[in-house]
Amino acid sequence: MKRALISAYNKDHIEKLAKVLVNNEYEILSTGNTAKYLEEHGIKVIKVEEITEFPEILDGRVKTLHPKIHGGILSRNTEKDKKTLEKLNIKKIDFVYVNLYPFEEKLNENLELKELIEFIDIGGPTLIRAAAKNFENTIILVDPDDIDLIIEKINNFDFETKLYLAAKAFNFTAYYDSVISSYFNKLINKEFPEYMALPLKKRNELRYGENPHQKAVYYENALEKGLFKDFEQLNGKELSYNNFKDIDMAWKVVNEFDEKVCCAVKHQTPCGVAVGRDNLEAYKKAYECDPISIFGGIVAFNHKVTAETAKEMKKIFLEVIIAPEFEEEAIEILRKKKNLRIIKAKTNPSQKLEYSSVDGGILVQERDLKLFESLKIVTNGPVAEYLIEDMIFAFKVVKHAKSNAIVVSNGKMAKGIGSGQPNRIWAAIDALDRAKDGVVLASDAFFPFDDVVRKAGKYNIKAIIQPGGSIRDEDSINAANELGISMIFTNMRHFKH
Ligand code: 5GP
Repeated sequence: MKRALISAYNKDHIEKLAKVLVNNEYEILSTGNTAKYLEEHGIKVIKVEEITEFPEILDGRVKTLHPKIHGGILSRNTEKDKKTLEKLNIKKIDFVYVNLYPFEEKLNENLELKELIEFIDIGGPTLIRAAAKNFENTIILVDPDDIDLIIEKINNFDFETKLYLAAKAFNFTAYYDSVISSYFNKLINKEFPEYMALPLKKRNELRYGENPHQKAVYYENALEKGLFKDFEQLNGKELSYNNFKDIDMAWKVVNEFDEKVCCAVKHQTPCGVAVGRDNLEAYKKAYECDPISIFGGIVAFNHKVTAETAKEMKKIFLEVIIAPEFEEEAIEILRKKKNLRIIKAKTNPSQKLEYSSVDGGILVQERDLKLFESLKIVTNGPVAEYLIEDMIFAFKVVKHAKSNAIVVSNGKMAKGIGSGQPNRIWAAIDALDRAKDGVVLASDAFFPFDDVVRKAGKYNIKAIIQPGGSIRDEDSINAANELGISMIFTNMRHFKH
C-alpha cells in the first residue's frame, strides 16, 4: 500500500483527491482539521499524530515537522535509505498534497502583525519543498487544477510529469515567501532590499508581445495596488502588450493635472495633450496637435467622457479610450465600434518603483514623481502669469515624452511635440515646425548650446522652460535676453528613455 499525506488549509478539493488516491490503493495521512474533514466525508485517514506519536503543539505551529514525516518524504529509492527507514520504523510517503495558510488573502484584512504572522505557514512549505526536492520518489501536488493530471498518471508517473509538478511546487513556495518578504520589507520601509523577491503572479497571457512573434504575459504584483489590478473594460478586444504600456503612460500623463485634460498617446509618447474648459474642448485640442498620429492611438482623460465627445471620437480609429467615468450614452455610442477598448480606471497611479530589464538582471528606480525643484526666472524682466501657467503645462507634458523631448504649447494646448531624438536640436525643430502658433517651449533637459533658444526665436516663442544646469547656461540666457524670450529654470530634468 502506498501512502499519501494531505494537509490543506482550504479543504475545497481534498475530498475528490482523497477518493482518487484511496481508489488507487493509497492510505491517507492527514493533519488535524484535514483529517477531521475527510473523516466527515467518509474517508478513512491516519492522523499524523499517530505516526509521530507526538501531538500538534504551539497552536498548530508544529504539526508535521518530524523525522517520521520528513524521513518518509525525503527518502530515496536506495538500499541504504530503505534500511534506514526500516530500522527507524518510518514508512515511505509517496504523495503529498498541501495548500498553505492564506497569508496573502489575510493581508487585506488589516490584521495586527501579531495575528498576521500566524498565517505564515511553516510546516506546509517544508512539506512541499521536501517532496519537490525528492520529486523522483515523491509526487508533489500544489495546484488543484492538476488533479486531472494526477488521475491520468496515477499508476505510472513519468519523469516529465514529476518534474513538472516539482517545478510548480517550487514556484509556488517561492511566490508564497516573496509575498511574505515583500510585506516585511514594507514594514521596515525598505524599497531596495538586499534581495528583491517580487511577488509576481500570472494574471493572463497576452496574445503576443511588442510584435506578433514575441510571447508575452501580464504578471501582477500581489503587494501593489495599480490601474491594471483595478479597472473595468467596458468594450472591445482584450488588451495587448502595447496597449498595457500605452494606457499606463497615458493614464500617468492625465493624472499630472488637476484641470480637465486629454492626452493622446502613440507608441509610448504623447502625440497630443490639452487642457479644456470641458471634455469636448480638451479632446478637440489634443486631437488638433497631431491629427495624423492620433490615428490608432490611445486617448486618456482624467474626467468624465461625455456623449458629445464620444461622437467626436467615433469619427476616427482609436485603439483605447481610458477615463475614470463615462456618460451612459457615451458608452453606447462608443460600443458601436466593436473592437474599441473602453477602459474605466478605478484608481490613480500609485506605483513607486519602476523596473526595466537588462541582459543579466533588472534595473529598479523610483518613479519620476516630482515636476520641478524650483521655478527661477533667469532672464531680464517679469514674466506674465499666463505664460508661467503655460510653461508648467508644457513641462508636465515634456516630462512624459521620450528624450530628447521638446514641447511647444499655447494656451495649455500642446502644439508640437518633438520626442525620441538623439539630438535636442532635432526635437526642437520637429516641435517648432509643427507648432505654427506656439508661444511656450519646454525642454526635458538643459541646453548644451544656445542653438535651441536661437531656433525658438525664429518661431516667435515668447517663453522657455528648461531644467538649466549646463556649463553654457549663460549662452542660452544671453540669447534669450537678446531675442526678448523669457526663460525659467526648474532645476529638475526629466529624461525618459
Ligand atoms: P489542518 O487544517 O489539517 O489542521 O492544517 C492544515 C494546514 O497546516 C496546511 O495549510 C499545512 O500547510 C499546515 N501545516 C502542516 N504542517 C505544519 C506544521 O508543522 N507547522 C505549521 N505551521 N503548519 C503546518
